[in-house]
Order: sequence, then C-alpha cells, then structure tokens
Amino acid sequence: MGCYDDGSFNAELENGVNSIISCEEEGKRAAIEDAVKVLLLGLGEDINREGIRKTPFRVAKALLEGTRGYKQKVKDIVEDALFPEVGLDDGVGHAGGVGGLVIVRDLDLFSYCESCLLPFQIKCHVGYVPSGQRVLGLSKLSRVSEVFAKRLQEPQRMGDEVCAALHQEIKPAGVAIVLQCKHIHFPDVESVFDDSNHQPWFKMLVSSGTGVFENKNADEWTDFYSLVNFRGIKVEKVHAKGSSDPSWCPSQSPLSAKVSSKVGSISPVMITAVASIIKSLGEDPSRDELVGTPSRFVRWLMNFQTSNFDTKLNNFLLGGTDSLNTNGESNEEE
Ligand SMILES: [Zn+2]
Repeated sequence: MGCYDDGSFNAELENGVNSIISCEEEGKRAAIEDAVKVLLLGLGEDINREGIRKTPFRVAKALLEGTRGYKQKVKDIVEDALFPEVGLDDGVGHAGGVGGLVIVRDLDLFSYCESCLLPFQIKCHVGYVPSGQRVLGLSKLSRVSEVFAKRLQEPQRMGDEVCAALHQEIKPAGVAIVLQCKHIHFPDVESVFDDSNHQPWFKMLVSSGTGVFENKNADEWTDFYSLVNFRGIKVEKVHAKGSSDPSWCPSQSPLSAKVSSKVGSISPVMITAVASIIKSLGEDPSRDELVGTPSRFVRWLMNFQTSNFDTKLNNFLLGGTDSLNTNGESNEEE
C-alpha cells in the first residue's frame, strides 16, 4: 500500500517517534535529499562518510519543516478562534488592550531568505484594533505570523502578507506589525571572523499596517510603539510598506560580489540541484526574486570548500551574539 510498504521510507525520527508523512511529502523529501547529495559531492565530500551519511535526510527534513507555511491556510487557523467581545457597549471594544489595541510582542520566529536561502531570525510584534466586536484568540496572531515566516521570505513582504491576511480574516479597524530581522553576513565569511570591525549580522526593522495603521503617522502607531516598548528604537528608521529597497540580503551587496569573485566558477549541476530544492519546497524557482537564488546559495556553499571554516563557524556560533551592532547600511533599533 503505497509508500509505506517498500522499506525505503523510514519516518523514524531521531527521538524514536514515528511520524506519519504523506506520500507527497515523502516524494519531496526524497527529491531534496538527492539534491543535497549533489551539493555535498560538489563540495568534494564523501557522502558515505559516517558523519555525513544522514545529512541529506536531516537537511530535507529541516527545510520542509522550515517552509511548512506553504501548506497552511490562514482561514483554517482563524475561523474557529474568532469570538465576540463580551461585556462592552456596541461598537466600542477594549479586548484587554489599550484604546482597543490588542498586541502580542516578542514572538521569536525564523524564516529563509528568498535571495540566498540562509535562515534569518525574526522578533515579531503584531497587533490589531478590533471592529464589530470581533476578537481573535491571542495565540492565533502568533500562528498566523508563523505561517508566513515559514516560507522563503523577505522582511517587508512577510510583514505585508501577515497584515493583509489578518485584516481579511478578522475584518478589524486595522492591523499593525513590526519585524526586527537579523541575517548573517554573506558571503564575506572570512571578514566576519578576521575583521574586528565587521559585524556578523545584517539587521533590518520593518513595519506594515492596514486600516487605521495605513498612515505611518497615525496616533495608533504611537499607541502600538508604546505598548511594544522597544528600548531605544528609532521609529523613523523603520522600513515601511511602499519604501523602495531592492534587497536587504547582503548576498546582493557590492562587497559580496567582490568576495564571490574569489570563489571561481560555480557548477551548473549544483545550481540546478538548488533550483530543484526550491521547487520541492512549493515555490516557483522562476519567480523574479528567486531567479538568482540558486547561484547565490551555491556561491555561499563554496566558501566552505575553500577555507577551514568548520572551526571558525563553531567558535562563532558558540560565541556571544547579543551585543551585536549593525553596519551603516541597515535599519537599526539599537
Ligand atoms: Zn539572504
């Protein structure tokens, strides 16, 4: 009976829990595993080496989990969690907030950068002003934000998409979101470690709003920021909907192009493998923003081949990352 009988599908997770995964999901996972093997071979790795044998499986599992938002519908999350605000006069809601504003702050999320496929961290603050006495369970604001984080993303688009989706489902007076995003520098790997002035994170602060939050200068935004209570936030530096910015991803900076030229030629087979991964995740690799993504990701991978990166990366990941500052180009809250 289909994919569960042939023994090729081992859904046993590392903690020993069996997971029921659909045949479609298994097909995608197998395709990603094959593509990851191509990338490892391209880096000169022995894919049968003990420490690396299960890596393609783990990478495929992590990528599918990290992009499961493509399969989720906001409507399914919201529809059973909308309820009428009780104990209030008609048309005036407080919903536990101030002046009608309801906020959930400091949601820790991560997403994958659509320009280079590296993960980036997100601190998410989201809120809305109810209308028609419709309120949504607070946990659902988090769930809906996560649906859009778990896709290949760009900060401003993610903010816009969360706002639009919540506005459509709740039909509130307005929705507001602020995202604090951190992306590792790319692919100028050496300078991250060797240059003490070079900061390892590229930061961006974005906002988006609908309804009463459509106007960036509306009083509702003042209420929102006072409730979110950022320390030292520079509101004027928040990147708002409609601002022009070609890409926040450092893989597209002039510096990265300069460093990338040292990498040499990039294998077309590896680029094709990455494009197939993007397709397996449920995306269209020919979408404008994704066209150059496979080659940028492979360029980043090639840095692993040409330096003693492992030791440095371990030191980097074990070191403190809390006191990081931004470079001059990014939008910044600290
Ligand atoms: Zn990126």
